[in-house]
Formats: sequence, structure tokens, C-alpha cells
Amino acid sequence: MAKENNQGLDKETLEKITKDLEERKKKILADLGEIAKKENDSGDDEYKPAFPEYGDKPDENAQEIAEYTTNLAEEDLLEKTLRDIDSALGRIKKGTYGTCKYCSKPIDPRRLMAQPTAGACIDCKTKLQNS
Ligand SMILES: [Zn+2]
Repeated sequence: MAKENNQGLDKETLEKITKDLEERKKKILADLGEIAKKENDSGDDEYKPAFPEYGDKPDENAQEIAEYTTNLAEEDLLEKTLRDIDSALGRIKKGTYGTCKYCSKPIDPRRLMAQPTAGACIDCKTKLQNS
């Protein structure tokens, strides 16, 4: 049998992590809803930042563009985090959660509790950051 058991993390820890991930997801979806519109016709989880309307004066136009640029960057970050969360939830379901994607060793549960979307162990992360 495959050793896909979420690295032997106990049920309570996994439940806590799942709940944490789901709560983060809810918050991100709410944040996204405020700055972006969901593209319904694509059927995909695609968000488009809303373009603010302040007026037609040059300073108002500049403000609109500035805010739009901020929204665009924030929307990008939120969508990336959302993907990380979905990927972590998917790993829990598959039973591969808590395994480092680089060295396939178990990730320290304390790290997972602090950073539930973590896909790499501290060693690999440190190596990557230093290289
Ligand atoms: Zn590793």
C-alpha cells in the first residue's frame, strides 16, 4: 500500500489545519469579491479587478488608474494564495499533505500549523532562499 497518510498527522491536527485553510479561503474570496468581479461566463475561477469610477477630471482619472493598479496587484496575490490553499486542501484529501515537494521528506508539523499552505520543508526552503 502507498504510504499516503498525510505523514501520519493525527486527525485532530489535520482537522484544525483543514478548518484554518477553509477559513482563510473564505476570507480571500470575500476580499476578492470587494476588489474584483468574477468572470462567470468562463466557468473558471477567474477574477477581473473592478475599474473604479471617480469622475472625468485628470486627477480623478489618475486616482482611478492608481487604484486599479493596486487592485490588480492585490487581486493577483489573492488568487495565488487561493491556489495555494486549494492545492493544500487537495493534498489533504489525497493523503499526500505534509510531504516536501522537493525532497519528499515529512514537513515539520509545527511548520504546517504555522503555515498550512507550506509545500516544502524548512531545509529545502532555506536552501532555495540561499541559492
Ligand atoms: Zn524538503
